[in-house]
Amino acid sequence: MTPALTQADRAALRARLLRDLPPAWRTRFAPAPTGHLHLGHAVNAVYVWSIARAFGGSVIVRIEDHDGRRSRAAYDASIRADLAWLGLEGDNAAVAHPVVLRQSDTPDLYTADLERLAAAGAHVYPCRCSRRDMTAHTDHHRELCYPGTCRRAAVLPEDTAARRLQLGDDVITFTDLRHGVQTQQPSAQCGDLLLKDRFSQWTYQFAVVADDLRQGVNVIIRGDDLLDSTGRQFMLGEALGRRLPPQVLHHPLITHPDGTKLSKSRGDRGLAELRAAGWDAARVLGYAAWLGGLQDQPQPVPADSLGHLWNHPVISR
Ligand code: GLU
Repeated sequence: MTPALTQADRAALRARLLRDLPPAWRTRFAPAPTGHLHLGHAVNAVYVWSIARAFGGSVIVRIEDHDGRRSRAAYDASIRADLAWLGLEGDNAAVAHPVVLRQSDTPDLYTADLERLAAAGAHVYPCRCSRRDMTAHTDHHRELCYPGTCRRAAVLPEDTAARRLQLGDDVITFTDLRHGVQTQQPSAQCGDLLLKDRFSQWTYQFAVVADDLRQGVNVIIRGDDLLDSTGRQFMLGEALGRRLPPQVLHHPLITHPDGTKLSKSRGDRGLAELRAAGWDAARVLGYAAWLGGLQDQPQPVPADSLGHLWNHPVISR
């Protein structure tokens, strides 16, 4: 298997983390309870906790159940049980009361954020279009782009619960801690951003940006599949009043040898199944660290030693 990160990649990333992480920093592990945790989540968790423990950050665990139609309480419970089994604890007590952060517990906060956006002069408008009305891109993004139809039509607010935010044509430039300088133009990638859908569900893009701002998250560590969303999230954050964008690090996604993503439908194993097959937590974490390119062999790593993956004295917070 080609390593996701070579030793030279790791050394370069470590140097950038040492140089660019803010003095007091906070990141998050933010799974959606729409399935059980699998090895892909474990790779993300290993990145999040190893970097936080090695470089003096804190981690909050946030259950991203903004979409009540797809989220299940049973997955929420199994995610938290798997994290406890892995020995991965959030530092939520520092930010949250009650300590479990769950998006569905605070619907009023998102409503207030939406009102604040509009009050600050952003153009938020009702939208009646369905996915079928989107324009498919032919370029490598393969993303649906909203052509702005309802921005130009007079749709009444009572006609639909769906709300979009008009995005300007700005080109956003940012530096990813692993990929370096990135340039994105959200209006050309995805068009005006859906904030709430026609079923009154807050979208991932809106809820994640609102929460990161509210919860003081200033470092985002997540998989490469979300790199393309970063520019639009920075624009939305700014519209919500965020003064400094967060630092971002997008890590390799683990894939099958043919490049496809892991999924339950292809028989990829959930963490609960590995546990049932006799794996212990350190073996799962060490295996995930190896899959993610953070060590050269899949040797076990207990949760309290994750910081040592960076071969760097642990900085206490
Ligand atoms: N909840 C998102 C997911 O499960 C992750 C959010 C993020 O890292 O921005 O894919």
